[in-house]
Amino acid sequence: MHKKKEFESLKSLDTEITLLEQTAALLEWDEETQMPREGVQGRAEQLSLIRGYIYDKKTSSQIEDLSIALQQDDDTCSDVQKAMIRIYRREYEQTIKIPKQLVLDMSDAKSKGQVAWAQARKADDFSQFSSYLERIITLERAYADALGYEEHPYDALLDQYEQGMTTQLVTDVFKPLKKSVSTLLARIVSQPQVDDTFLYESYPKELQDKFGRMVLQNMGFDFSRAHMSESVHPFTTTVGPDDIRITTRYDEPSVSSPLFSTIHEGGHALYELGASNRITRGTVLAQGVSMSVHESQSRLWENIIGRSDEFWHYYYPQMQKIFPSQLADVSQEAFIRGINKVEPSMIRVNADEVSYNLHIILRFELEKALITGDLSVKDLPAAWNDTMKSLIGVVPNSDAEGVLQDVHWSAGLIGYFPTYVLGNLFGAQFYRTMCQQLPNSQDMIARGELQRVGSWLNHNIYQYGSIYPPQDLLMRVTGERLNSSYFITYLTEKYQNLYGLT
Ligand code: ZN
Repeated sequence: MHKKKEFESLKSLDTEITLLEQTAALLEWDEETQMPREGVQGRAEQLSLIRGYIYDKKTSSQIEDLSIALQQDDDTCSDVQKAMIRIYRREYEQTIKIPKQLVLDMSDAKSKGQVAWAQARKADDFSQFSSYLERIITLERAYADALGYEEHPYDALLDQYEQGMTTQLVTDVFKPLKKSVSTLLARIVSQPQVDDTFLYESYPKELQDKFGRMVLQNMGFDFSRAHMSESVHPFTTTVGPDDIRITTRYDEPSVSSPLFSTIHEGGHALYELGASNRITRGTVLAQGVSMSVHESQSRLWENIIGRSDEFWHYYYPQMQKIFPSQLADVSQEAFIRGINKVEPSMIRVNADEVSYNLHIILRFELEKALITGDLSVKDLPAAWNDTMKSLIGVVPNSDAEGVLQDVHWSAGLIGYFPTYVLGNLFGAQFYRTMCQQLPNSQDMIARGELQRVGSWLNHNIYQYGSIYPPQDLLMRVTGERLNSSYFITYLTEKYQNLYGLT
């Protein structure tokens, strides 16, 4: 590499930024899990100071000079050097494209929007939120124009959460998915209801915690480098190169929600643990590369592995031993049907593995139309209800359980929702490659050898952290561009078997 000195400067700036980010993450983790209620004011001041330092470093003239100096040098750089330059240059270029006034307006619109959204949701009245949402949409369009795009303004918004993703590509992969999932859902709905009442019995929290920790340990969650506690909304965060934190919650009516939430966050944590290694340690590269790839790892563990026959072949006898009175009369088959019950419902976060995809497709279609102006904000509740009816077959009784259910739009997160379903697609595509390269992986799962599956994921995905952009990583691992057929096949075969459809 010609410009060794410049790269060394970039590296030392990166170290400082990474340390500040981890410090902020620790303060945030503490706020969600330990901090007394009255601590909120002091914590906001601490976080705002650190966030200010990070912003100043990322937009400093030093980063500008380094971005320019390192621009032409890609051919002589290692993959690690290229990745670090790519990440900082991208961030710098995106930042300078947005006029300061627009950043300030958006920040104001988001904080007022979130307050208005919470009140409107409580009052079950969309009209209290609509003018705030109109302002957010107008500003999102201005963001798209400032960031620039080739084909569709929504491309610029998507790209903020999933580098390289375009509206056309999402449309192409969602189209066959929508058709297959709708057909599958209609066939399932025509079948007799599955009984899952046993999941709602009383299950002592300490025992749920014990079982969850046993599964995590077996997945390869290293308790000497990672930690689990409780919070209202489960999440995963990285507070140091050997300190990954996950949270879960036990105050759910069913025994399965906390467990699958633990496995989900455990999947995120394994990715972060593997991403911090000898090569990437302490740098911006020691983390998952994008929202979709991160979500692919959590959903792969939670759904494809955690809700499978093989997984419960090993774990159900142990679960029955821990909860003898609750599960004595429930067969393994009935249990697996219970945890995979499909039932169309209004609320995305409670949706099953099949209809969940349609909840996201609905949001993708409406967001796109809002950004192009094909749909006006005042017509949004009606459009929401019509699309719910045609896609999922249920109509919300109120705005609160319909168009007002998610926080995302009030927080200015337009273009974020597709990453949830893209995560399903990435996950199934990775899993298929794993089954080809590790032909007895299902037998391993059935024997409880989850760490062997984890090793494959670590070797092929986790250890690269953010070195390769998401779609390059997918191509390296699977030899193919994003293809929804693997997820469609997985979902169709699984639920045809579960529901006895032929
Ligand atoms: Zn997740």
